[in-house]
Amino acid sequence: MANNKVIGKGLFLWLSTFSLIGLMVMVTGLWYFISPRLHEFNQALPFVLLSALRIFFLILVIGTILVFLTSVFEKNFLIANFAVKLFIRFMYPICIFVGRIFRIRKEKIGESFVSVNDSLIKALSPKYNASDVLILLPHCLQDTSCPIRITVNPDNCKRCGKCNIGDISKLAEEFGVDIAIATGGTLARRIVLKKKPKLIIAVACYRDLVSGIQDAFPIKTFGILNIRPQGPCINTKVDVQTIREALNKIIMKSDK
Ligand code: SF4
Repeated sequence: MANNKVIGKGLFLWLSTFSLIGLMVMVTGLWYFISPRLHEFNQALPFVLLSALRIFFLILVIGTILVFLTSVFEKNFLIANFAVKLFIRFMYPICIFVGRIFRIRKEKIGESFVSVNDSLIKALSPKYNASDVLILLPHCLQDTSCPIRITVNPDNCKRCGKCNIGDISKLAEEFGVDIAIATGGTLARRIVLKKKPKLIIAVACYRDLVSGIQDAFPIKTFGILNIRPQGPCINTKVDVQTIREALNKIIMKSDK
């Protein structure tokens, strides 16, 4: 099965850089227009404001370069968690806004955002105990002809091979991690509140992954896009090997 990460990190990283440059140009332009008024008010005020803006821009540029390097090389370039938080919380809506100007589809930006998020997790996260990791799956992965109720208890799955739930259950057992199946965002939130994982490996469409990553923060969510051969929300699939690779990267070796 092909890797479902069709859109890589580049789109979101370049859009973020472009957006921040645009923001700096706009703020500097604003300063230019209001500085004569500020000067009338107090002669030193334009200079003080410009100095504060320069410091702010410097922090922004350094932070962006570090996030860029961390994501591209998947190594920790001294990024503080709060920088990642700012990036995850605020850059997505800004990039969607800028993307709209350039007629870039929201779905592409969302997929790229998930790739960047995953690369930051790989770069920054320590290894986790298996008991702190939760695999969260959407109900649409279950084959529609399957009569078994797996949302209440995923262990009910007979692992018949008709859908990916069986293979993922085997994987979860092999690594000793918890697994849950949610029928929607509300139930997913409830599961996370109840199980209190330190890291979530979530499978979903880009829309649910983006909102899940933002909602769950500061709990880190490693997002894996589902594959939709029959359209959204029905008999979806996932590349199980991608989940295995994520577990290999994230779980502490002694716990496997
Ligand atoms: S693998 Fe499990 S969930 Fe999927 S069809 Fe078979 S029994 Fe049902």
